[in-house]
Amino acid sequence: MNLKNITDNELIKKTENLVRTERETLTTLLHHLREVQRRRLFSTLKYKSLFDFTVRHLKYPKDQAYRRISAMKLLNELPEVEEKINSGAISLTHIGLAQSLFRQEKKFTEKELTTDQKNEVFEMIAGKSVREAERITLALASNPVEIKPDRVKAISANHIEVKFTTSCEVENKIETLKGLLAHKFPSLSIGELFDKLCDLGIEAWDPAAKGKFAAPRKASAEPKKISQAEVRRNVFRKAQNKCENCGSTYALEIDHCEPKALGGDSAKENLRLLCRSCNQRAAIKAYGIIKMERYLDGS
Ligand SMILES: [Zn+2]
Repeated sequence: MNLKNITDNELIKKTENLVRTERETLTTLLHHLREVQRRRLFSTLKYKSLFDFTVRHLKYPKDQAYRRISAMKLLNELPEVEEKINSGAISLTHIGLAQSLFRQEKKFTEKELTTDQKNEVFEMIAGKSVREAERITLALASNPVEIKPDRVKAISANHIEVKFTTSCEVENKIETLKGLLAHKFPSLSIGELFDKLCDLGIEAWDPAAKGKFAAPRKASAEPKKISQAEVRRNVFRKAQNKCENCGSTYALEIDHCEPKALGGDSAKENLRLLCRSCNQRAAIKAYGIIKMERYLDGS
């Protein structure tokens, strides 16, 4: 592209136009992401989530994918913001700041801000520099401590560093647990404690776990009837605790291959393990999106 010969005026005009187009493309992209999410279409392409799709399929760096999805959710909740993005008054960074304030307020007051309150925050930060917007959102917070999202960073091939914010109450619980384990494991680090808690949690909540602490079952004279829990456990085991479509381990659910409402039964051949998104996508395919919409979570 040779720009050397266009006039100064033209150059400024064209640059302004490109910026306008770029902003409008952003909001159009957010609408498209929203529709991909509505149809759970990422699941057909074997991605675990819209985020996974945005990173691996659309090739956005993780932080940028996160910011776009977060803005997509916001646009759905506050359509008024779209115009502010198009006009350049609000950037993805502004949206990130506002949303971290909304998250904090919800955590602190245990109540979601109303749509009007949220819109008011956007009115206040619209057109302001990022620094200024930062100051405004910090001043608006009831709890001046900023609760940042969790951060996980790889520090070696086998190790990660986790940074998270929590309350003093949790700190007390950690101290209590360290005290309880002190005989067996003196000088236990939080990471080591967390490892043990993960084992306990898996033992307690993973349907496929053997339950090594569970009481042995009494032998019964009656012919053995397979319990619901056992059917569940078998489906989880067969699928190795992973979504059979995309491999996700998040929010797994048992799905009827042939839907129940269409005559499918609960015999083990008709059952499979899917993550919630893939399960929802399967339902959308079976029943149509219009019919399913009211059962799906609003995200
Ligand atoms: Zn899945």
